[in-house]
Amino acid sequence: MRNGQLLIGGEWCEAASEATLTTVDPATGEALATVADGGEKDVDAAVAAARAALRNPSWAAMPPSERARLLWRVSELLERDADAFAELETRDQGQPLPIARAVSVAGAAEHFRYFAGWVTKIDGRVPAHSVPQALNYTTRVPVGVCGLITPWNFPLLIAAWKLAPALACGNTVVLKPAEQTPLSAVRLAHLFAEAGFPPGVVNVVTGGPDAGRALVDHPGVDKVSFTGSTEVGRDIVRAAAGNLKRLSLELGGKAASVVTADADLDVAVPANLRSGINNSGQVCGASSRFYVARSRYDEFTQRLADAAAAVRVGPGLNVGTQMGPLVGEEHLARVDGYVRSGVSQGATIVTGGKRADGDLAAGSFYPPTVFADARDDMRIAREEIFGPVLTVMPFDDLDEIAARVNDSEFGLVASVWTRDLALAHRLAEQIQAACVRVNIVASLDPAVPWGGVKASGWGREMGAEAIEEYTEVKSVWIGLQ
Ligand code: NAD
Repeated sequence: MRNGQLLIGGEWCEAASEATLTTVDPATGEALATVADGGEKDVDAAVAAARAALRNPSWAAMPPSERARLLWRVSELLERDADAFAELETRDQGQPLPIARAVSVAGAAEHFRYFAGWVTKIDGRVPAHSVPQALNYTTRVPVGVCGLITPWNFPLLIAAWKLAPALACGNTVVLKPAEQTPLSAVRLAHLFAEAGFPPGVVNVVTGGPDAGRALVDHPGVDKVSFTGSTEVGRDIVRAAAGNLKRLSLELGGKAASVVTADADLDVAVPANLRSGINNSGQVCGASSRFYVARSRYDEFTQRLADAAAAVRVGPGLNVGTQMGPLVGEEHLARVDGYVRSGVSQGATIVTGGKRADGDLAAGSFYPPTVFADARDDMRIAREEIFGPVLTVMPFDDLDEIAARVNDSEFGLVASVWTRDLALAHRLAEQIQAACVRVNIVASLDPAVPWGGVKASGWGREMGAEAIEEYTEVKSVWIGLQ
């Protein structure tokens, strides 16, 4: 496989500068592969290829039923190569192989299938207007060239969240995967040609932040869909002002989980642990701050810590591993810095709290860490750690809970664990988050919108909402006099 190259206009090529970057296996700390380190010139070429493909009748005039068939074909090819994709994702990103297989690869295939179904249903309407002797109708047209910038936590899946709806709507794309985990995107790129997509419809430029910046700055890009940190999201908003690009931003989170006095802890403890340490806590929607009724606080904290201490941490390829490494050393240092800040601000580590040693010392392993005696104003309770660090705080008054949950710059997702249905509905209404889960750690579904409010982002991915994000509405008037 040509890991080392960029896909531009249907051709595989080196970066114009011939620069490369090396990705590391986070379970061993060893170099895994070298890929092209694309820059401004490469982004320029990829955008030009995407613009040309947008006008090319082989794509622009392709009947929706044929476009649907191509997307469906990608899902079949992903499933054909599922084992290889899963292993690649585990080696490059670190996630346990069963997660790579069941969540990343199967989820990506499902997104292509779901949006294949949409292609033949993207239509307009005939508004009930009041202008005499005139017909008006609307259509939905592609936005144009879309720059898709993805993070390292679920590289293949998040690429699919963007590619599937963008292509379903007839756009052309330049995908810029995260520099830490580019390999599955490069492999996926091969499948588009095999499925029969015309050259230039899908372009892939591997590289670091400079390649991302070049894409966001580029006047030939009509829309940017970005998933990543809130900090970079803010830079992107500023940079997109040039040609007023449309933006979708899926940013950071600090998901709260409220556990009431009547909650079933047999369900709530394992579910909250799963939500907190899934993919080593490197999940934007990971539950990371817990508000527990004081009468159950000690019991919940101890049971959570016991379950966390029993989690089998190890290389993602090892059978039985429940939690893999963090994505790399730089990120581990950041997570550990947060843990140290928790200690210095007065919280107590109940379990975990330092990198794994022994057999795991060479990899970027950080065991699940549970903090008690924390306060709302501590950094571990306010900032996104993006690691397996769970901060548990008590509450006395249910009336204060929504305000405490909402006292956050983020608004991605929150969960509530209770047997009181009326309370559940009340909190679902009061909590400022784009998604509220009651007694469930729901996996994402391509039919259900996903995104954030406040500093967690703009717009929604998945569902009918994604079709709106990747199309413009055009209104046509016809005089009938
Ligand atoms: P990041 O913001 O550092 O990088 C994300 C991508 O942006 C990478 O491809 C990177 O090369 C690129 N980039 C960096 N600087 C850029 C710039 N100035 N202009 C354009 N592109 C630039 O994020 P990360 O560390 O890779 O991912 C972790 C973050 O992603 C967390 O904050 C997490 O919450 C967030 N995330 C959010 C969701 C969601 O659905 N809301 C999902 C997954 C991850």
